Amino acid sequence: MGAVLPMAHRMRAQGPHVYQYRGIFHASDSGKYFSYPLSIPSGTRRVEVSLAYAHNSNNNVLGVQVFDRNGFRARGRAQKVKGNWGHVESVIDTGCRSRGAVSGEIAPGIWTLEIDTYCVKNDCIFELVTEIYQGATASSRQQASASEQQRAGGFQAPSRLDMQRPLRQRSGWYRGDLHVHSEESDGILEVRDLMRLAVIRELDFLAITDHNVHTAWEQLTTELSEFCLPLTGIELSTYQGHGNALGVRGWVDWRLGLGDYGVNEMIRRVRELGGIFSINHPRTGKLPTGHACWRADDVDYNLVDAIEVWNAPVFSNGTGANQESRRFWDQLLNQGYRITGIGGSDAHYIDGSRQPLGVPLTYVYALALSQAEIIAGIRKGSVFMTVGPKIYFTASSQSGAKAMVGESLPLSQFREQVWLHINIKDAPLGSEVRLVKNGVSCLSERVSHAGLLSIAWSDDEALGAAGSKTWYRVELYTSSKEFAPGDDGLLAITNPIYVDMAPGPTA
Ligand SMILES: [Zn+2]
Ligand SMILES: [Zn+2]
Repeated sequence: MGAVLPMAHRMRAQGPHVYQYRGIFHASDSGKYFSYPLSIPSGTRRVEVSLAYAHNSNNNVLGVQVFDRNGFRARGRAQKVKGNWGHVESVIDTGCRSRGAVSGEIAPGIWTLEIDTYCVKNDCIFELVTEIYQGATASSRQQASASEQQRAGGFQAPSRLDMQRPLRQRSGWYRGDLHVHSEESDGILEVRDLMRLAVIRELDFLAITDHNVHTAWEQLTTELSEFCLPLTGIELSTYQGHGNALGVRGWVDWRLGLGDYGVNEMIRRVRELGGIFSINHPRTGKLPTGHACWRADDVDYNLVDAIEVWNAPVFSNGTGANQESRRFWDQLLNQGYRITGIGGSDAHYIDGSRQPLGVPLTYVYALALSQAEIIAGIRKGSVFMTVGPKIYFTASSQSGAKAMVGESLPLSQFREQVWLHINIKDAPLGSEVRLVKNGVSCLSERVSHAGLLSIAWSDDEALGAAGSKTWYRVELYTSSKEFAPGDDGLLAITNPIYVDMAPGPTA
């Protein structure tokens, strides 16, 4: 492991207690977790953690997190690089909330600081300094952060998100963005500004999914949440790829490889906390995104609820990333897994944006506009994604069974005819509708009238043989750059309808 010089601990009659660790990490230390104890005396009102390290032209990237007696407390936020030095800082204060930190009392006892060596390519000198404040003396940084928060409109009192309360009672299609970052991790907008933007853009729901922190949740319930339903979310950003925990009731450990904590255990934890797990941007094409590409081994895909098959199309334009992600999805569907495709803007930067909020939109058919029902709708697969046009896709069988996206259409005999009903609204003239069967396009039509198209297509070979399974999906494309943000002209895409034999005696 990285060599660590003896820890220095200064206690002064005045000013903070200071803990200081210095050391060096080598390339062999990359992708691990190193912990350093910290003794927090009673009466502590503020803890400031600062990690400086030699980034050597971005060859080294380190992170830092703080655990108190009860568990996760804060994750450091990367600061501007100064010369050859990268900086990560975290503040925990009983008097004000700080970005990336869980607010509340500072419990005395042994805490743990942890450095994650996200990437170490060259020898990496580091210094980890913690200042512990008691009494009423405020540091200059604290004063600066207090005035900054006052400029932002005063402190938000932490409030519990009422996850059961529906914002609207009726069933229907609701639209939102399932992947957005705030200032709590590496986004540039405050939670409140993101919520305001979501209301302006007429989103019904918004999941703020900061990297490995759930601290945005403390700020979700405001007067804005009367207009747009906030969903709890965390982007679990691991060394083996990224995944969103959506609709969870608490923090989820993302530290794969720590002890015997593996990817399936992490996903099970998400489910235990009432949420769903979505693999984010599984393929990154030509994007230089390092760990972001999904590369976890031995994944039990029966546990995976969703895959983000349409991530930030403006940003990934020209990289082929989303096309590769959809092929990954198709492979899993063809293996018999029923995994819901979802979209996400992955918005970090809004102004002049390459990742605008709500591009793409994910539409979910839910029994009500509540966290529980939106999550249930995604889990079921009652979902389509779009940058504008809407696709309503249903199927029926000769014997009268009906199904919508995400559902199974049960057949009573192998050769029973299946009818597929596609209704398109708000599509640009000339856009192309494709019906995809088991990953292969089997029908193509052009939208030629008033942005509407209604197709009924029959397939008498939906199931050709005993044991065969089939899925159908609809995609909408344009050749006009005016309408489609991504490189393949995709305007909208549905989830599959699955065709299967009805249980019981077969014909
Ligand atoms: Zn990501
Ligand atoms: Zn993200």
